[in-house]
Amino acid sequence: MSTEFSTQVVLDALQSALPPRHAFLPLHEPTFSGNEWTYVKECLDTGWVSSVGKFVDRFEEDLAAYTGAKRAIAVVNGTAALHICLLLAGVKPGDEVLMPALTFIATANAVSYCGAFPHFIDSEEKTLGVAPQKLAAYLDEITEQRPNGCYNRLTGRYIKAVVPMHTFGHPVDLDPLLEACQKFNITIIEDAAESLGSFYKGRHTGQWGLLSALSFNGNKTITTGGGGAILTNDEELGHLTKHITTTAKVPHRWEFNHDMIGYNYRMPNINAALGCAQLEQLPGFLSAKRELAERYRRAFTDIPGIRFFSEPANSQSNYWLNTLLLDEECAGQRDALLEATNDAGIMTRPAWTLMHKLPMFAACPKMDLSYAESLERRLINIPSSVMLGTGLSNA
Ligand SMILES: *Cc1c(COP(=O)(O)O)cnc(C)c1O
Repeated sequence: MSTEFSTQVVLDALQSALPPRHAFLPLHEPTFSGNEWTYVKECLDTGWVSSVGKFVDRFEEDLAAYTGAKRAIAVVNGTAALHICLLLAGVKPGDEVLMPALTFIATANAVSYCGAFPHFIDSEEKTLGVAPQKLAAYLDEITEQRPNGCYNRLTGRYIKAVVPMHTFGHPVDLDPLLEACQKFNITIIEDAAESLGSFYKGRHTGQWGLLSALSFNGNKTITTGGGGAILTNDEELGHLTKHITTTAKVPHRWEFNHDMIGYNYRMPNINAALGCAQLEQLPGFLSAKRELAERYRRAFTDIPGIRFFSEPANSQSNYWLNTLLLDEECAGQRDALLEATNDAGIMTRPAWTLMHKLPMFAACPKMDLSYAESLERRLINIPSSVMLGTGLSNA
């Protein structure tokens, strides 16, 4: 086949974009080059390591300031953040929640924690995220508006929300999605776990839905060890989010009163200390990641059958995980490429197994998923750590 590339050519292209090294190169390593030691030491020295402390307040303020959201609430991880977003959006047992089939398991798990059903939707080429026009046409076909909301005639359940996920940091095409959700009366909860530092039309991701979830797991753009946050522009919801994630305790000097079933989902101060130090470095991290992405883009411009995925128009991506896409005719070469690169000490990884193929979600409703299925066959993530870019050398 004329479009076929040789594994060696791809390996050479990767090597040319990466700095010289000796050790195995993971997909995404954290960088601790700022005030991490100072802030964490302060927690240990003062004893404020746990559920309250000044770093939690500061991290929430800094996150709100950076993203432009009115409120940011720090929590234990991104999955917990999604869980609370869905609960507060009114997702109830027996409801359906739309989400891409191409996502990390957390999105589907969080819906299940609410007793609701994931309903899988297709992705599109230009963003790797949900395909808004295809979704609108599908909803036209299968739903009707009832006094209680968007009714799925096929399953007899209500579609309460959609969770667009900004895949590998690349923003979903949000304007047409907002339009469709307005038309069909569906709430948007953004899974912005991968997209801190990513903007759609100049506005930060996670600012477009009613609520959104961020993650600061060890492999994300910035890390708190484990952690997450919820963003919202609704003050009242922000207040309720803080309350329900901190055991719903009614403030009092000594009494323990709780006025609803709450969750112990708060982020410990010691993790928030790490977060404050990481957030200070985010602009430097982002420019290093863009530099690396640019080197990859150049290295892959002339290789037939394979291309580097670049940020969608109208968007600025954080390039959290860099992505190669094989042409459909070359999908059969994927596994050989994964093997050769990992053998050469360069970690590469295929896309997540699509959610509807997992046993616990196999019976969930889904639309035609042909593009997601195509992506699953031919997508490869490549090393993306901040330190591989050059922008950090003077940070
Ligand atoms: C990382 C991630 C999450 C949250 O993961 P946690 O490990 O719970 O912080 C959620 N959704 C997506 C798409 C993710 O990549």
